[in-house]
Amino acid sequence: MARIGTAEAKPGEVTKGVIPVPGLPASSHPPVAVIAGRESGPTLLVTGGVHGAEYTSIEAARRTAATTDPAKLRGVLAVIPIVSLDMFWERGIYVHPLDGRNPNRQYPGRATGTASERLAAAIFEHAMGPADYVCDLHGGDMVEALEPFTGVHKGAAPDVLAKSLAMAHAFGIEEVQVGETVGSTYGAAAMAGKPAILSEAGGQGILSEAGAQLLARGVQRLMQHLGMLEGTPEPLPIRERRNSAWITAPATGLWYAAKGPGEAVREGEPLGRMTDIWGAPLAEVRAPVTGRVIWIVTAMAMKEGQAMAGVARD
Ligand SMILES: [Zn+2]
Repeated sequence: MARIGTAEAKPGEVTKGVIPVPGLPASSHPPVAVIAGRESGPTLLVTGGVHGAEYTSIEAARRTAATTDPAKLRGVLAVIPIVSLDMFWERGIYVHPLDGRNPNRQYPGRATGTASERLAAAIFEHAMGPADYVCDLHGGDMVEALEPFTGVHKGAAPDVLAKSLAMAHAFGIEEVQVGETVGSTYGAAAMAGKPAILSEAGGQGILSEAGAQLLARGVQRLMQHLGMLEGTPEPLPIRERRNSAWITAPATGLWYAAKGPGEAVREGEPLGRMTDIWGAPLAEVRAPVTGRVIWIVTAMAMKEGQAMAGVARD
């Protein structure tokens, strides 16, 4: 019997339930689908919607749950398509509406803490706890244009890092970032000894069909890699990069991005410029490293200190 949250599935069954979050109303409890394979094997947790407006990731997770046949599965697939339900219904970006915190910086969470700390604690204990592997899907937030990439947490133990990198290669998105996002879903899983990846496609509040297919295909390939589905994923070209640079706004003003996701940039090359409301120049924002723009904010409104862009270092 596979049990994740309130969902219990016998071999060959698909069951839906929720992850109870003590202290939050039932409307905040994330939905979970448990697909229990006829044969035994590993347990993979797939999460989406940790950021509630990253629709492409939500659709990919939802579709994965809907299309995985337990008769063809070895092991258990647990899918939480929307972790941050309140954020989803509020169409909120970056932060949870109940506490103003980024839910992907609260892991492993705190059961007696704020809303997103409680959410993280419940996911960490009841969904990641029973899992052997974790795949957290993201989709570029509502104000971001993004080049698809997979992330791996470099702080994990060497064997966990090696397995996480193998998962990233199997997933099949070319751009692989080896980084260190503290408090993230995949980071907390990896630090707890569970090989984990983050994969991201989509953005700007648009449900990208191509992005959803890319992420859903990645999870299929990952399940093949983990021996949960028949077949071997065909090798695809992968480029691993370390030490990406994240750029934050030097001023409050209007933001005019000059580069798009996927564009190559040289160190010192302009990424865009900022002006005041009447057009007087405030700042020229330049690439701090040579590499490739992986995401860039497309919203005009920019406050000092807000994230503006990420450049993957060559
Ligand atoms: Zn996200």
